[in-house]
Amino acid sequence: DPRIARISSAIRVIPDFPKKGIMFQDITTLLLDTKAFRDTIDLFVERYRDKDISVVAGVEARGFIFGPPIALALGAKFVPLRKPKKLPGEVISEEYSLEYGTDKIEMHVGAVQPGERALVIDDLIATGGTLCAAIKLLERVGVHVVECACVIELPELKVCIPIISNTNMLSEL
Ligand code: IMP
Repeated sequence: DPRIARISSAIRVIPDFPKKGIMFQDITTLLLDTKAFRDTIDLFVERYRDKDISVVAGVEARGFIFGPPIALALGAKFVPLRKPKKLPGEVISEEYSLEYGTDKIEMHVGAVQPGERALVIDDLIATGGTLCAAIKLLERVGVHVVECACVIELPELKVCIPIISNTNMLSEL
């Protein structure tokens, strides 16, 4: 798809951020390019339009940028999957491993119903640990995760992708 190259070139790479050795994929420059940003949303919407998605779950923080416009276009609700202690109501949480230590994502109890069909959105997949946790969280409450989708994939870090075979990167759409 010719839109992919433009989207890709609108993403800025910043070396050594937030620490030395990391090539940070900065999607804020994609948001400045109105055509590339619209194309990004359109590509996801085209893929999921006929998949009967009732909930788009966005992973904090950049899943909150791409998720809501996709949800609106699909006629689905948007559910934020947040870092610990951010949601004010009762939550369920799922812990996952980081390089050093662990982290958690949380979702409001009652935000989704058993049997709903979900699309999980984040900006980037590295090891896949975050998306694995998102899938587990949603499946624990009886939601069917149709697919996960990200704008960027860091293939060299693809450690747990076999577990989340239902993940699509924009470059594959
Ligand atoms: P994973 O759990 O290892 O797949 O890491 C994915 C998470 O880390 C996503 O929520 C991303 O937003 C974040 N992340 C990791 N590296 C980058 C980056 O270079 N740019 C933006 N986000 C990143």
